[in-house]
Amino acid sequence: MADLIERLGLSGPGQAFILFGATAVFLAAPDIDLMLLRLLHHRSILTHSVLLPFLVLWFLPALGPAAAAGAFLGVAIHLSADLLSPARGYGQIYLPEPFQVGLGGWSHVWLLLNALAAAWLAVAILPVGEGWRLLAAGTGVVAALCYGLGNERSIMAVIVALAVVGAGQYAYLWLQPH
Ligand SMILES: [Zn+2]
Repeated sequence: MADLIERLGLSGPGQAFILFGATAVFLAAPDIDLMLLRLLHHRSILTHSVLLPFLVLWFLPALGPAAAAGAFLGVAIHLSADLLSPARGYGQIYLPEPFQVGLGGWSHVWLLLNALAAAWLAVAILPVGEGWRLLAAGTGVVAALCYGLGNERSIMAVIVALAVVGAGQYAYLWLQPH
């Protein structure tokens, strides 16, 4: 199995497949805090951040850079959509046990910074090349449409997610040495 993954990870089409799959999984991943409510409040600062994709990057290197890139992309879009709820009650970002306090107005700052960082990292960790960048852009557009319309049922969620994905691409191009 590991051998198969490693071989998949090394091939171009395999990496594209892994990028799509990881994006789909990580669109929903931040809300695993709902399964850990003893330790984490919903909208936990730990899961609603760039931490989960970094864990993929650090602990699953055999999957190749596309796995972490997809994870960053999925989380960027999830956090973009979460930006639309008011920073009160369950709309806030919460610290884990033993604190369990909300960030209040800082929740939006946290979500925006992490969404933008994730959108940039999704491109920045991929191998250099126009093909990879466009693959990440295309996957981001499809994921923003699917998540915004399907999950959030909101055109605004699509627009904000597209803006965040676009900002990540723009930042990548801008920071690239020319
Ligand atoms: Zn969420």
